[in-house]
Amino acid sequence: LHAREQHPEDTVVRVGDVAIGGGAFVVIAGPCSVESEEQMVETAQAVRQGGGAILRGGAYKPRTSPYSFQGLGPNGLTLLGLAGKATGLPYVTELMDAEDLPLLEEQADMIQIGARNIQNFSLLKKVGRSSKPVLLKRGLMTTVDELLMSAEYILDGGNQSVVLCERGIRTFETATRNTLDLSVVPVLKERTHLPVIVDPSHAVGKRRYVAPMAKAALAVGADGIMVEVHCRPEAALCDGEQSLHPSEFAELMAQLRGMAAMC
Ligand code: PEP
Ligand code: MN
Repeated sequence: LHAREQHPEDTVVRVGDVAIGGGAFVVIAGPCSVESEEQMVETAQAVRQGGGAILRGGAYKPRTSPYSFQGLGPNGLTLLGLAGKATGLPYVTELMDAEDLPLLEEQADMIQIGARNIQNFSLLKKVGRSSKPVLLKRGLMTTVDELLMSAEYILDGGNQSVVLCERGIRTFETATRNTLDLSVVPVLKERTHLPVIVDPSHAVGKRRYVAPMAKAALAVGADGIMVEVHCRPEAALCDGEQSLHPSEFAELMAQLRGMAAMC
């Protein structure tokens, strides 16, 4: 179902009134984690002002250590809803446990399956039966064939609204958090009709490298990006080092607009 051969025209995935894959470069932005009403609303306003189309924020966080901040859970969804209302932006948030699916289906505009759950086939089958659009992130060790087969699980369940996301893979290189595999964008564009976006933030892990890779994502033909932005990155409870300041986000957006206008 994912293959370009069987389905030559590009799939357009709708999130609220935003179209991903329809030709416009879509920017999803927001904090790694929802922390408080003030943080979420302030950051959402910065995303809106910069020209972001979709808000992001984790309420359920997949943390390496069980002692790290795990997210606000259902209260986080409430705050995302508030921030979405305040700015008019739809939001995407990660689903980690199938038992939270009904709540996300009721409240979220798009469901994210994170890198760590890319081969959680039981979870993939469940979002495959959902009517919500799904943002499927490539895993740290996922090949293109495996990524496409994970998407296939969702499509096979009847859900045709799947967006693929490259977010860096694990290699021998340690200068960046992961290695952003930008060549996967033209490869996926050839093999599938599904929209493809790039998350430079989790790939590079340092805010100064985010903008160059975001611009590179536009240049290689991605349908959009997802970037972490925080109103006060120094105080962030998760991924502050890779989160853009509102001013840096605004500057990146202006640069992307300039590049898009040139094309
Ligand atoms: C995220 O986008 O919030 C996240 C945890 O990313 P990943 O699953 O790619 O590590
Ligand atoms: Mn993060």
